[in-house]
Amino acid sequence: MTSTVDSAMRTFDVVSPLDGEVVASHPVADAREVAEAVRAAREAAPWWAGLGFAERARRLDAWRGVIARGARELAGLIHREMGKPHSDAMLEIAMALEHLAWAAKNAERVLGPRSVPSSLLTINQAASLEYRPLGVVGVIGPWNYPVFTPLGSLSFALAAGNTVVFKPSEYTPGVGLWLRDAFRQANGDRPVLQVVTGDGSTGEALCRAEVGKIGFTGSTATGKKVMAACAETLTPVLMECGGKDALLVDADADLDAAAEAAVWGGLSNAGQTCLGVERVYAHQEIYQPFLDRVVALAGGVRAGDQIGPVTMPGQLLVIARHIADALAKGGRAVLGGPSAVQGRFVQPTVLVDVPEDSTAITEETFGPTLAVSRVRDMDEAVARANASRYGLGASVFSRRNGEAIAARIRSGAVSVNSFVAYASIPSLPLGGVGDSGFGRVHGPDGLKEFTYARAMSRQRFPSPLPLTTFRRSPPVDAVVRTLVRYLHGRH
Ligand code: NAD
Repeated sequence: MTSTVDSAMRTFDVVSPLDGEVVASHPVADAREVAEAVRAAREAAPWWAGLGFAERARRLDAWRGVIARGARELAGLIHREMGKPHSDAMLEIAMALEHLAWAAKNAERVLGPRSVPSSLLTINQAASLEYRPLGVVGVIGPWNYPVFTPLGSLSFALAAGNTVVFKPSEYTPGVGLWLRDAFRQANGDRPVLQVVTGDGSTGEALCRAEVGKIGFTGSTATGKKVMAACAETLTPVLMECGGKDALLVDADADLDAAAEAAVWGGLSNAGQTCLGVERVYAHQEIYQPFLDRVVALAGGVRAGDQIGPVTMPGQLLVIARHIADALAKGGRAVLGGPSAVQGRFVQPTVLVDVPEDSTAITEETFGPTLAVSRVRDMDEAVARANASRYGLGASVFSRRNGEAIAARIRSGAVSVNSFVAYASIPSLPLGGVGDSGFGRVHGPDGLKEFTYARAMSRQRFPSPLPLTTFRRSPPVDAVVRTLVRYLHGRH
């Protein structure tokens, strides 16, 4: 077991997947403790919102500075708690800080008050709009990118003027606490960003604590439970869930670049990436040379060296089951295979001829495996990519038609001639469709996600057409009839 929860003792151990050593023990916060954190956050919310955009930006920048200066230590903790290589952890921190900087800098422009046009019928009104904070936001995070992923919600919720109660994954609570301590170091002890540690029961308590919104990142199955719990209090939810992303390779693609992207996208972080490449559809004309490149590159990657262990012990069974199912249904392993699962490590595995109804194609594997399929043309590639119930990200490799192919893919994001670049561009939103969830982190949409739109109208002078009164006269009614015909009847 990576994490053991002893509810009687109300603590749990984080056990490093690297060597089985206990990293630390943490409390399992219960409903009362979660409610207390939310109460404190609610009290602090008006103060934090009242600071205004510029002062919050200054404080978020100070937090960013503390994180950046402590990045080596934080990367070490990520490595220890969930097993990814130190250098990958540093890359994750670098990407997360880009988004934090963007959120702080752009919150006022995106959310601040602005005038908007009124209409012919409301010509006497001045109209304005602003995006107001929701109060307290609850963030529930996963372990696979324990900094990048939660910060996608934390940075944007805080920049928008909310206080936050964060429930990190039970596999990476130390990373969550480190981020909170960094915030305190930069900004003092007010409960603007609090952390409650624990397992699913703590997350469930947060869903029931009547916060302004839950920003959830995790599996689709847990997302459904979160939605059900939040439904009881009509708490809105942001759902960043799982994926089964495809990479499409056209006949005119740069095969070296496509193979590099498939191998990094499929194997990095031991395949434990929501936006990881799990399926590849390659044009028949280049299928074999592309596959040869993939196998050569993937064959040079070793679990235990460039990629870490599988973080959740239970996932090893899922990976083994998906490989076995693919082979039982007529697929072949051209690299790795059943013997690739070795203790806590899974060696790179490339599967071919895998039928579309195999779990290696239909379900999230979350392991360092790739299923590479030969397709007649890009029409078939797009149809098969879109046949998934997930729709998080996708990649397309084509010299001439990349954007046209990308436009036909049903997913929250797509990158042309690269892997996952959209996730590091701060002005772009990130999120999915279908079983991958809804709502967005990052960019302007990510800021608006943690606010409500507040509309205001101010009467500048009495209406020449008094409409909302029982004194409305027949001539005014006649003008309305004429206007309706004139404005809308000609279409
Ligand atoms: P998970 O669903 O097991 O857990 C996620 C979080 O939910 C954890 O903090 C957990 O304690 C909590 N939780 C569990 N049960 C709960 C309940 N009943 N109520 C409230 N909270 C509960 O997911 P995981 O294994 O931590 O993360 C991996 C999953 O996350 C994968 O499916 C991956 O694709 C997905 N993910 C998605 C994105 C994205 O941006 N879409 C990013 C990273 C990870």
